[in-house]
Amino acid sequence: MRRQSCPICGAADSLPVTSRRGYQYVRCIACRTVYVDPMPTPGEVAVFYQNPTYLAGDVEAGYRDYAAMHKALAPHFRRRLRILAELLPQRGRLLDVGCADGYFLQLAQAEGWEVAGVEISEPMAREASRRLGVPVVTSVDKLPPGAYDAVTL
Ligand SMILES: [Zn+2]
Repeated sequence: MRRQSCPICGAADSLPVTSRRGYQYVRCIACRTVYVDPMPTPGEVAVFYQNPTYLAGDVEAGYRDYAAMHKALAPHFRRRLRILAELLPQRGRLLDVGCADGYFLQLAQAEGWEVAGVEISEPMAREASRRLGVPVVTSVDKLPPGAYDAVTL
């Protein structure tokens, strides 16, 4: 098994933190970032997120019902939108990477942002795009050309 260096600072040394569902989590000794080691391959990640139950039904590895969490997420999302509005009162183009079903984008759109999203889960990307009428793609490589005023992750 190949040991991985810290994806943030590049340090090679880490200490084990925990393991869950076959993934070992380690903490970088230099910067204290916690990351999975070994990192799953892009193919393994794709399989994980294409599971249709990831955002609705998989309590172990995903969410029981992401849409049902909107009410709980709203205060957090609104706080972030207030911060963005202070930085960019004129609004503009906003890209949310990892946008799930697009709830953050929905709130941003209602506040005057021109929004787009990236969501690795194909069913969620499709649903967000359909519901909001905006581009939501499964990879940053698939974004239409252009620039964004704000990128959220
Ligand atoms: Zn580090």
